[in-house]
Amino acid sequence: METPVASAAPTNLLGLPRPELEAFVATLGSKPFRARQLMGWIYKRGEGRFDAMSDLARDFRAQLAQVAEVRTPEIVREMQSADGTRKWLLRAESSQAFETVFIPETDRGTLCISSQVGCALDCAFCSTAQQGFNRNLTAAEIVGQVWLANRELGLDAQGHRRVTNVVLMGMGEPLANFRNVVPAIRILLDDLGFDISRRRVTLSTSGLVPQIYKLAEEVNCALAVSLHAPHDALRDQLVPINRKHPIAELLEACWHYIDEQNGRSVTFEYVMLDGVNDQLEHARELVRLLKGRPAKLNLIPFNPFPGTRFRRSPMPVITRFRDELVQRGVLATIRRTRGDDIDAACGQLAGKVNDRTRVRLGDKLAGAMAS
Ligand code: SAH
Repeated sequence: METPVASAAPTNLLGLPRPELEAFVATLGSKPFRARQLMGWIYKRGEGRFDAMSDLARDFRAQLAQVAEVRTPEIVREMQSADGTRKWLLRAESSQAFETVFIPETDRGTLCISSQVGCALDCAFCSTAQQGFNRNLTAAEIVGQVWLANRELGLDAQGHRRVTNVVLMGMGEPLANFRNVVPAIRILLDDLGFDISRRRVTLSTSGLVPQIYKLAEEVNCALAVSLHAPHDALRDQLVPINRKHPIAELLEACWHYIDEQNGRSVTFEYVMLDGVNDQLEHARELVRLLKGRPAKLNLIPFNPFPGTRFRRSPMPVITRFRDELVQRGVLATIRRTRGDDIDAACGQLAGKVNDRTRVRLGDKLAGAMAS
């Protein structure tokens, strides 16, 4: 079989789930096991250069070099927080940047990845929302974040990769980019891909109800939902998608997801906004919604950003709120704020990058790195 015309743009193998990669190697006249070998190199060993893939036939490597590539986004800038959190500012074809955050903990390493550049959903308390929507990330750009983080972080003392958990909690609404997020999750879970267990990959959504039903059929990963208010009047204000898909519908979709997937529970994120949603009455309303259900609440102290009208609830208010939930039989934890000194905490992504001067600075840096 002839190799495809060399003038065509090379196919990026990063981001192709196993069946697609098998189909691709078939177009080169190769057997499916070649795709499995390739995945081993790309995801297990983090190797992107075909000439270094020593157990692939020389001819096959030469063929690949002509028609394929392993292309990640480009690192524009890296920042490290005093608490060890690391943030990378990345860029691909478009001029706008997106971010990835690594949060080291004693027993795991969580990578928080972006699914879109910007976001269209306009949640009142989120800095990403302020920049509006730019574009969807491709599957390659989504898994590329994990690939790059693994490369940059190196292995731990036991020879294990440092990224043990992945959360789609960075910039963007993952379910609004369903087409690219689903193949990316498949690669995260595939034992020939990143081989991360399904309980360690979490997709967080603001509540796109029809896509939650679709997701239940497509992949098997943990689900987090940004609830932030216990009744529709308040949630309509904070999370505007609620006007289209109100709380009762959203919760039905969540319980369906857990049933379908035989999952343990949905994590409900609840940002603690001073004087807005942090009263004990709100906690009691949450109990009425969630008690006896496969649910846990994760209370997120609000992370401020320039221009916001919200304030973080005082810590005693947050702990009292948690205690009220727990005493009344709903599991609840408080999310520890990490990386806020580098604007890497929840809801802060792109806050500063969005600032025009910083974007231009990023562009300059990228230009300098490329030249
Ligand atoms: N769009 C998805 C993924 C983002 S996840 C979603 O809405 O779930 C990021 C989490 O941080 C969401 O729960 C989001 O509501 C929350 N968040 C947004 N802005 C925040 C802020 N300023 N402080 C704390 N949490 C925030």
